[in-house]
Amino acid sequence: MNVTIFQFFHWYFPAAQNLWNHSKEKAQHLADLGVTHVWLPPAYKSANGTEEPGYAVYDLYDLGEFDQKGTVRTKYGTKQEYIDCINVIHEKKMQVLADIVLNHKLGADEQEEIPVIQVKEDNRNEKTGDEKRIVAYTRFTFPGRNNMYSDYVWDWHSFTGVHGKEGIYLILNEHTSGEWDKVMEEEFGNYDYLMGCDIEFRNPAVLEELKKWGEWYMETTGIDGFRLDALKHINVDFYPGWLSFLREKFQKEIFCMGEYWKSDLDTLLRYMDATSGMIQLFDVPLHFNFHKAARGGKEFDLRTIFDNTLVKARPELAITFVDNHDTQPLQSLESWVDPWFKPHAYAMVLLREQGIPCVFYTALYGASYADGKDGNTPRIDIPPTAELETLMKVRRDKAYGTQADYFDDAHIIGWTRSGADDPYSGCAVLICNGEGGEKTMSMGEKHSGKTMFNVLDDQPNEIVLNDKGEGVFTVDGGKVSVWLLKESNEK
Ligand code: CA
Repeated sequence: MNVTIFQFFHWYFPAAQNLWNHSKEKAQHLADLGVTHVWLPPAYKSANGTEEPGYAVYDLYDLGEFDQKGTVRTKYGTKQEYIDCINVIHEKKMQVLADIVLNHKLGADEQEEIPVIQVKEDNRNEKTGDEKRIVAYTRFTFPGRNNMYSDYVWDWHSFTGVHGKEGIYLILNEHTSGEWDKVMEEEFGNYDYLMGCDIEFRNPAVLEELKKWGEWYMETTGIDGFRLDALKHINVDFYPGWLSFLREKFQKEIFCMGEYWKSDLDTLLRYMDATSGMIQLFDVPLHFNFHKAARGGKEFDLRTIFDNTLVKARPELAITFVDNHDTQPLQSLESWVDPWFKPHAYAMVLLREQGIPCVFYTALYGASYADGKDGNTPRIDIPPTAELETLMKVRRDKAYGTQADYFDDAHIIGWTRSGADDPYSGCAVLICNGEGGEKTMSMGEKHSGKTMFNVLDDQPNEIVLNDKGEGVFTVDGGKVSVWLLKESNEK
């Protein structure tokens, strides 16, 4: 069966709704739609308690079990609710992908006086001023957990940098030797530092603690794979080592997809090469092509939609997606694909041979929210993408076999899938961003004489394939048509 990932959260999901219970309730629905992997958000205690989606990590060992940061549960529920949710997803034969955030920690318990040197915000390699001592929150003792599961204390030897009153400080300890860790990303000179207390991967004790934690996390929860956060800010060698350790330990393949948030294809390919293909990457360039196409309307040339994308260059390692929790409205990285183009984009990620698609929560379930931090921001209402369930079912049952592309018109592109063993599998798709029209495409000779219908059209709309298996498929202006073989009409 085709692999389909579902991102089961969005940035503004309300804590009161308890995401773990919600995903438990929706597990059957997802399985029915052909979802094979469910990506759940960061499950550990945030520095902001229940007020933040989980990327401001405080304690990796607190999955909603200890009274820390003003709450036992996390934004999404308690540890037991998390484990129950994972068990239910497993019962429905789907895998769980855990969100792994290991670049930084926030919300330290104690201050320390530490030696530092300040660096420029826009060039982290440029030091400003002299070495000095500052008092900073860099010591994590987790008093609420009281050494349960691990007695590791994170202090200024476990971190590379910290944000102080005046800006970013590089910590001068025996591991940093006054330099940021080597990362691939050269934005701001060196983009090792993102936020909070930046984790120091050159400290062997840190590596040991993170391996120990990974083992504990997998054993405790039964998660199957990972979504890795903030790869841009982490030494390229860290995750391959960490993953190899866990794969060896558990003697299994561990599915792993990573976020390297950059639309430059060459950078993503370099990262894939540097990590020997161990980590699949989100196709950020494709997302931006969708965004541009949606904004461009009929000015956009659809023949270029896959230009400079991962799914074109390295299809076996590309995780394709339309939107996510960082691109949704009100986010700082907002690059929301306009609603009219969402069925187009979802057809292009779900019904083609290349890439593994990741469907975003709001596309299936919608959302209504405002940014809690500022009462003046508008309320956002996101309706579900009406065509999505149908497209997911077509992916589950029909989108198999050889793909033939018809990218021969700027405003109507199409492709066919010839189908697998089931004589009625296969499909034909047309994507249109201008005036409606038609295109002759072939389903392959084995389908000659069969009738096809547009599953996205309420009106009866059928065509018959000629003796070569070709048909003249139609699409309405600015729409998508998805043609399936009609089973009741035997050849
Ligand atoms: Ca870092």
